Amino acid sequence: MSGSLPDGVRFIGPEEGSLPAWQPGHAPDPTDIALCVGCGLCLPHCPTFRLTGDETASPRGRIAAMRAVNEGFREVDARFAEVMDGCLVCRACETACPSLVPYGRMLDAARYQARGSRTLPSRIARTVGVDFALGRPWVLTVATALLPVVRPLLPRRLRPLIPRIRLRDLLRRLPRVSEPDGPVRGTVALLSGCIQDRWFRSVNVATIRVLNRNGWRVVVPRQGCCGALTAHYGSLDAAQLMADDVSAAMRASGAAWIVVSAAGCSAHMKEYTGFDGAQETAASVRDVFEFLVEQGWTAPARGATETAAYHDPCHLLHSQRVAGAARGVMAAIPGFTLVEVKDGAKCCGSAGLYNVFEPAHADALMREKAANVAATGCGAVLAGNPGCAMQIQAGLRAMGASIDVRQPIEVLEAAYAADPAR
Ligand code: SF4
Ligand code: SF4
Repeated sequence: MSGSLPDGVRFIGPEEGSLPAWQPGHAPDPTDIALCVGCGLCLPHCPTFRLTGDETASPRGRIAAMRAVNEGFREVDARFAEVMDGCLVCRACETACPSLVPYGRMLDAARYQARGSRTLPSRIARTVGVDFALGRPWVLTVATALLPVVRPLLPRRLRPLIPRIRLRDLLRRLPRVSEPDGPVRGTVALLSGCIQDRWFRSVNVATIRVLNRNGWRVVVPRQGCCGALTAHYGSLDAAQLMADDVSAAMRASGAAWIVVSAAGCSAHMKEYTGFDGAQETAASVRDVFEFLVEQGWTAPARGATETAAYHDPCHLLHSQRVAGAARGVMAAIPGFTLVEVKDGAKCCGSAGLYNVFEPAHADALMREKAANVAATGCGAVLAGNPGCAMQIQAGLRAMGASIDVRQPIEVLEAAYAADPAR
């Protein structure tokens, strides 16, 4: 091939007859890889590139590594795994990319490939923490119940990340059906979530109350994890089974919509594919604020006079592009003022279990986010995703800042509760 090119021109691309060096199973789609033209417009938006200045820690560099394997130049090896595992999957690169490269699904598939090339401790940690625990809701419940005993045994840096849960709160279940006081507009199913329901159940309770206040009957089907974290760590077959189960439970409830208050879960569910009913389920998923704005909602007549910083979860901002819905609703609460955080579009470093597996970068991003939140001077910050809330809380504590971390739906619910007109 290179012999036919003019002098001085070097051929870049697959050699004739070259074969992909992927392992059997899922792999990044060559059509997706080909979409990247290497322009580099995503680089300034990538938190790991900004931290390191290293091309292999950038979206373009990671896609180049996928391309090298796809064109048979490189094997999937430990270095490939390291490059892929260094990504936050924040998907800020997708927002910036003029070629519309679907980076998230490529990275999930690349991590599937990387599974056998990780170090043994890394494989064990992912098998136990992701494949085993998230696939079995009872394991999470037992682990949460044991936290008071286990917490001192955890690595010091992880202890402040995990909230303190009272056993009686853990054992309390969400009502299977919650009716609105007045006329019923329709029925929605709530994705209660795995981490969200065990560590942030008050957020699910607030979500149900807000939906009821706006005329919606809320059902909470028996359900497991949506599969988001499992997919992002490359266990695509296990994630698919989890997605299929959740999807079937939601469809069996008869609800017209699935409402979710954890940004990472709604982002993943909107991209369900590859099983019966996947498309139908994906099309019915809504972030709770997106749902309120889409269907129409009634603002509380009054609210506490309060100012809070607003944190954009990456999976609302970059994956779903619906960050404006929560901002609009919050801005309509009487007396409530939102304050922007500097570099708000930049990941806080939580990124699922990134803060467990990649502590150096996660901590650097956490410190930066906490400093920017503190610089707003607000007494509270709102974060609509459990991982972000934990990460920002830990960062603020580490810097000695006494700033309350809440989820936006809790603020709206509190405003309704203080509103005697309804
Ligand atoms: S991912 Fe998109 S923005 Fe980044 S280098 Fe490739 S084409 Fe350019
Ligand atoms: S997902 Fe985030 S961390 Fe990963 S390459 Fe894209 S911008 Fe960088």
